This record gives sequence, C-alpha cells and structure tokens, in this order.
Amino acid sequence: MALLQIAEPGQSSLPHQHRLAVGIDLGTTNSLVATVRSGEAVTLPDHEGRHLLPSVVRYVSEDEVVVGAAAREYASSDAYNTIVSVKRLMGRGIKDVAAFGEVLPYEFEEDQGGMPFIKTIAGAKSPVEVSADILKVLVQRAEESLKGDLVGAVITVPAYFDDAQRQATKDAATLANINVLRLLSEPTAAAVAYGLDQKDEGVILVYDLGGGTFDVSVLRLTKGVFEVLATGGDSALGGDDFDRALAEWLAAQTGAATAMTAALSRQLMEQAREAKEQLTAEDNACINLQIDGKEVSVDVSKTQFDELISVLVDKTVRACKRVIRDAGLSLDDVQDIVMVGGSTRVPLVRERVAALFGRPLHVDIDPDRVVAIGAAIQADVLAGNKPDSEMLLLDVIPLSLGLETMGGLVEKVIHRNTSIPVARAQEFTTFQDGQTAMAVHILQGERELVEDCRSLARFVLQGIPPMVAGAAKIRVTFQVDADGLLNVEAKELSTGIESSIQVKPSYGLSDGQIADMLKASYSSAEEDKEKRFLREQKVDADRLISALEQAIVIDGQALLTADERKELESEIDLLKEVKAGSEAREIELGVERLAKVSDEFASRRMDLNIQRALQGHSIQEIEEIT
Ligand code: ADP
Ligand code: MG
Repeated sequence: MALLQIAEPGQSSLPHQHRLAVGIDLGTTNSLVATVRSGEAVTLPDHEGRHLLPSVVRYVSEDEVVVGAAAREYASSDAYNTIVSVKRLMGRGIKDVAAFGEVLPYEFEEDQGGMPFIKTIAGAKSPVEVSADILKVLVQRAEESLKGDLVGAVITVPAYFDDAQRQATKDAATLANINVLRLLSEPTAAAVAYGLDQKDEGVILVYDLGGGTFDVSVLRLTKGVFEVLATGGDSALGGDDFDRALAEWLAAQTGAATAMTAALSRQLMEQAREAKEQLTAEDNACINLQIDGKEVSVDVSKTQFDELISVLVDKTVRACKRVIRDAGLSLDDVQDIVMVGGSTRVPLVRERVAALFGRPLHVDIDPDRVVAIGAAIQADVLAGNKPDSEMLLLDVIPLSLGLETMGGLVEKVIHRNTSIPVARAQEFTTFQDGQTAMAVHILQGERELVEDCRSLARFVLQGIPPMVAGAAKIRVTFQVDADGLLNVEAKELSTGIESSIQVKPSYGLSDGQIADMLKASYSSAEEDKEKRFLREQKVDADRLISALEQAIVIDGQALLTADERKELESEIDLLKEVKAGSEAREIELGVERLAKVSDEFASRRMDLNIQRALQGHSIQEIEEIT
C-alpha cells in the first residue's frame, strides 16, 4: 500500500522527496506509461524513442516472451503464440468468449473456473498473465527511465468494465508486482489530462476511437467528483475498420481481389494503415504493392478515403447522440468534448464530431497519450506529491464500509478504493439462542474497532424466528450506486424478512477528514491488531462460557455427576476471571483449557441429541436420509 508509506510520520513532510508514481493506459491495441516530471505529465519512451507499446505478447519458448512491436510482426505467422487484443478477454469466462462471434486465432483450454486459458508454447496462459507481461515491460521502462522503484501506479480501464474485468486488471497488476494506487476510468483520465476536473461543474463527452474499439462516455462533474452518466459505443469498430475499408478498395482497384492470398491480404492491410496515417497530414498517398511478383502502384486521395470511411464515422456520430439521450441530456448540455484514441487524428472524424456539437473539440493533447497522461496526474496526487491538491476523484469508494460485529469490531464489507457502483453481500448469524432481532450498525473507516470508525447509520432487523445460536442466516448486502449512495439491506434467509436503510457516505466527509482517517489507520495498524486480537479472544471466551452455562441448565442434571458439574463450573469461573483482564494470550489459553475440560460433556450431549432425534423414526427411514 503506497498510501501507507505516504502517511508514515516523518516522511510525508519532506517536500523534496518526490515519490515515483506512474499512470498506465493498458489499451487494447497500444499501451503507454506516463509520469509527472518537473510538474509536467509526460509519456515515457523505450530505448528507441517509441512511446506506444503495441499490446501484443508473443511466447517464443518456454521462458522467452517478447512484447510490443517485435511481437506484433508475428501476429499472423505465429498466431497461436502471439496474443493480440487480450484486453477483450479480461474478466471474461470461456462462454463469454465463445459468444463474441468472431473467430479468435487461439486454442483455449478450460480450467475449473471457466477462465479462458490460451494454449501457447510456454504453456496455458490466462488473460491476466498476458496482461501482466505487458505491464511488466511498462514498469521496467518507467523504473529505468526514472531511476528508482515505483511507489505505485494508476491503471486505466474502460468506464463500462464490470467488477470482474476490473478485478482481472488488478490481478494482472499484482502479478506484475505493481502497487495499484487506483483503477481510473479511461474517460475520466482523459478529462483530467485536460484539467477539466478543475472546473466547478460541467458535462463532458469523451469520444474514444482506438484501433479496434469505439467508446463514448458522458461524464458529469460536480465539485471535483466525476460521475459517469452513460456509456456507449461499439466494441468492434475502430481504426482497423478504416484500414479494412481502404484495403478492400485497393484490392478492387488493382485486381488483387481475384488473386487474394493470406499474405497479400496482410500486405494490403499494412499498406492501407500506412496510407491512412499519411492521409491525416497530406492530401494524397501512394501505395506500392507486390501482386504476383509485379510492382503495382496506386494513388489514393483524402477525398477518396473520406468517402470510404464515411459510413463508419457516421455510425460513431449516431452512437454519440444515443449516449447523450441515455444520459437524459441534449446536445446543448455538453460543454466539453474530449477526443481520445489514435483514430481521432483522422480529419473527417474531427469534422463530423465538431459539426454535431457545433463547437471546438479538445484535441491539443496527443490522442494516443491523453489517457496515460491523465492517469499520471492522478497517480502523482495519490502518491502524495501534491499535498495541497484538492483533487480526489470519487469514482471509487474513498473509505471502507463495514458492519459492527461482536466485541465492538468492524467487519469490512466493501474495501476502500473499490470502484462504484458495487454490491457486496456477507452472511452473519445470531449469537444467542432464541435471538429474534439483530442490530445492524454501519461504519466507515479503515480502523479495526467501532469507536475508531465513523458511524453512518443503524437499524434493527426484527422478526427473526427463534433458533439456536448460529442457525439463523442473515445476509447483509451493501450496495453503492454511481452517485456514491449506500443502501444496506439485511435479510433473514429462511423467512425472507428484511429491512434496509439508505445512507450517503462519500460526500459526508471532507477530503481532509479522509486523509486523516487513512493516516490514523496506518500509524495505528500494529496497535489495532493487538486490540483486535484481545477482543476476539474475549468474544471467544464469552461464546464458550454462555454456551456451557446454557448447556448445564438444560442437560447438566441428566449428563453430569455433581463433582463433574462443580469442576466445570469452577473452570468457567476461572475463565471469567482471566477474561476480565487484558492478557489476550492468557484468555486464548483459558478458552482452550475450558474447551478441553468440557469436551466429554459436549460429546455426551451430542449422543443424547442424536438419540432424541432418532426417537420415533424407523431404521429404514434413517437409511433413506443418509
Ligand atoms: P487502443 O485504444 O485500441 O489501444 P489507439 O488509441 O492506440 O488504440 O489507436 C490505434 C489506432 O489509431 C490504429 O488504428 C492506428 O492506425 C490509428 N492511428 C494512429 N495514428 C494515426 C494517424 N496519424 N492517422 C490516422 N489514424 C491513426
Ligand atoms: Mg485507448
């Protein structure tokens, strides 16, 4: 935990100590790493000066892996071992992957969890491992260039990524030995790169057209809080489709369509891509092809290219209108339009989008790098390099949310930094025989004890049918919606009775308070652990004592001799005495001792209960049950 280090007393106040943190754009086609250096966010190049790392991983042998441009060259000749667009597989099951419809060039191996493992020469690789291999290269690049170890990274994910996809991304980071300061949504990162979070409020549309995907998001900013109002787009539309449109036209022009081979098709796609990128800056491009050993050259004009891609661009414009409608807004409500992704360099794309809104677009920051740059700015703040910064993007939960459990302890249900919206459920049970109500106390904070956290709300679940302790199953569900609103529901599962309450946690605390609570939780972690251990021992002792006392009342007469009973009772008193003190280890030993002493009594009770249960049943019935 990097924030832990930030808060370490005596360290955080040193102004000159710059903590190395990076922003990572883990893209479908390309990935990048950026950092804030001398107050400016910059992407970091490799040794050859290339900033973009193609998100392609090739497993060459058991222990050789190549990432980036060198791997991409083998995408078609060594397709089985060369993984492209792995981001599409993140957090997906093998069934989801089969439902993609398109034929992926890999062989999958199904593990027990249903995760799609890709068979390669280096063994079966999960999408998480493949992504980790990309991340490792970026981190190494950063550490070499910054000359030091990273405190952590902010990694961006699409706004629509669900919990499983986000978790998979985090797991990849863990595998790559990266401390994730936060996952940030890509559109939010782009808005941050343009400094839009410094405004008081506004509606922002982020138009992201990459290599193979198109994402459009509408964000609302209110007092430094970004909220994703709606997302849309097309997961199978991008610059690659522009290449394909141009390649098909080329094939028709040159007569190559009739003599098409895999190699020729690949050549056409590559040439088309080059020509497309050239046409961004120039009015004409010349394409040279080798067809049947003959050199063929074709000229293509910008006008011709625009005509070819016009339908595709219109599709993206329609998606923008749709997502604005989904957000319950009209075109005029959008104040800022941020252009992201390499394909937004295409002039026709810019023209059409600008025409839709009738206003200028944000295009000054390199559209390939804008997401990584925003992530780097956020990482810099989270690493503690800008102590005065007010920026705190609440598209994640800033402090853990939990419940009070026995002994005044806090059980965390949703951990801090979890992206919202989110829902998590946990099952609890009754502590006492015949308990018919359960108090639900909702808390916020990182500390272990109730009194050190912030109380958010309380309510009581009533009407639990009387049962023995531990038999009732009460499911408590915490749900935080995109507004940061927390809804807590408690439900007794056998009867279905339920009760709920709505609380509003994230806006209740100022950023300063949040920072203080985090600091306190870190500086007192050791002490908290001890206190927690002591309380746990006390709870254990209480549980055993109360269970035994009840058992003695019910079955003592029948199952214990007077001496045995006396011995047991004096042992109970002994534990009560130890429990009143504050020696956790002593209490633990006392519990063990009493458990041993009462062992015989417990087994007699068990026998008696079995006998009772069997009364009135025939042997045959019992055989049927077992
Ligand atoms: P992703 O977000 O999917 O990882 P990128 O944002 O890196 O993808 O965009 C890659 C796409 O941008 C490719 O289709 C590439 O051809 C296109 N692209 C890059 N530079 C240009 C350019 N100058 N003109 C037109 N398209 C470009
Ligand atoms: Mg991208």
